[in-house]
Amino acid sequence: MSIESGSQSVNLEQLAAPEPDGERYGAIWSAHTERLGNGELSVAGVPLSRLAAECGTPTFVLDSADARSRARTWKHAMDEACAPLAGADVYYAGKAFLSKQFARWMVAEGLHIDTASEGELRTVLAAGIPGSACGLHGNNKSRAEIELALETGVAHIVIDSLDELDFVEKIAAERGVQAPVYLRLTTGVHAGGHEFIATAHEDQKFGLSISTGVAREAMKRAAAAPHLNLIGLHSHIGSQIASVDGFAAAAAIVLAERAWAGEQGIALPEIDLGGGYGVRYTSADPVPPTPHMFAQELAAAVAEHVRRSGLPAPRVSIEPGRSIVAPAMLMLYSVGTVKDVAIDSGKRTYVSVDGGMSDNIRPALYEADYTAALANRVSTAELRRARVVGKHCESGDIVVRNVALPADIHRGDLLAVPAVGAYGYAMASNYNMLTKPAVVAVDDGRITQMLRRQSVDDLLAYDLG
Ligand SMILES: *Cc1c(COP(=O)(O)O)cnc(C)c1O
Repeated sequence: MSIESGSQSVNLEQLAAPEPDGERYGAIWSAHTERLGNGELSVAGVPLSRLAAECGTPTFVLDSADARSRARTWKHAMDEACAPLAGADVYYAGKAFLSKQFARWMVAEGLHIDTASEGELRTVLAAGIPGSACGLHGNNKSRAEIELALETGVAHIVIDSLDELDFVEKIAAERGVQAPVYLRLTTGVHAGGHEFIATAHEDQKFGLSISTGVAREAMKRAAAAPHLNLIGLHSHIGSQIASVDGFAAAAAIVLAERAWAGEQGIALPEIDLGGGYGVRYTSADPVPPTPHMFAQELAAAVAEHVRRSGLPAPRVSIEPGRSIVAPAMLMLYSVGTVKDVAIDSGKRTYVSVDGGMSDNIRPALYEADYTAALANRVSTAELRRARVVGKHCESGDIVVRNVALPADIHRGDLLAVPAVGAYGYAMASNYNMLTKPAVVAVDDGRITQMLRRQSVDDLLAYDLG
């Protein structure tokens, strides 16, 4: 396991690292993060000590221009790569992080929004975004969710099972409408981390199996259903994927199914190749391919299929979540208790912060690694082997397992943890009755509240006594 260094010199090096294509795709810190002359970290012109004084801690700090630029980069890359085909749509996967303003920014950059629940869909609608800019996912959609999707005219509902196919047909029939649907196929390709497996591992809850023939049965049934408008096939192979190989393999499998459908006279004008594009959390993570590289690879697979099948080119969608928002947001904690603990090879400094697994469950859930840096000052003290932990009643409440931090770190210092924008706030809980942190956006020296900090009174409001 690598030890990340949180020293100022290493962070300056990381911050200054040149990025391919100017896209900063390997960046761990957001684009406008810098160390000021006085030693403190600043994001988009806002020194983090000022932010802590005005907003308190823990606070999620979004570099909004960085998130927008990542969204724009995906959109440009897909538009360019798919121009010779029938064009492209980029759906931001709202589950990674969603607020009304964030959804508006994504739409302003030309993206659509993927939702997977009534709460997500209603958040986007409440932002004034039309249903036609949304997709609806989920392996167990409720009647209310399907009805809301039909009422608001979502672009497509992604059907996940034969059971759901019949359920959506029934609800659309009751309402006398046609539901635009994709079918989510299980390609047998599973990717995540740094590898992919193209075996028929299908023992999981999502999708319609290709290998057992369920996918083709679903295509025939959907094409024949009077209240379903089957417009496309969908595949999502995993998350935090750092190579194009799995996507290319899955695309080839989905396109072979599209070619089969074509032979049955079922025209499918769209395909959706899902999300899962990886980011770097620490310098030990590989630099992921750029959006441009992913887009070119996907478009090449589609072009090859068009050439072989003779079918009209499909419009291609993708659904990035993490790669847009993860590196654009850092978490700002205050340091509390600092404690040295003896371990086999010497000692380790435990640095406790004012949050933990309730605002970032990923280390406990996936053994995810992060790094951290002193945010309010630089220190010339020697670096110590440290572990950043939260304030919850679990020894697994770890924020950063291994990081080098200055020996003089003490109560009252500020600590920044980068790349927490995806599945951080979105997976936050109230464990130990901690309140969810605030989310603020910073841009050009200004701080904008996006999601206010919960109060204990908010939590007590649920308690009916
Ligand atoms: C989670 C998910 C995504 C987004 O995944 P990221 O790893 O955040 O890019 C996209 N599509 C579907 C269907 C998903 O379940």
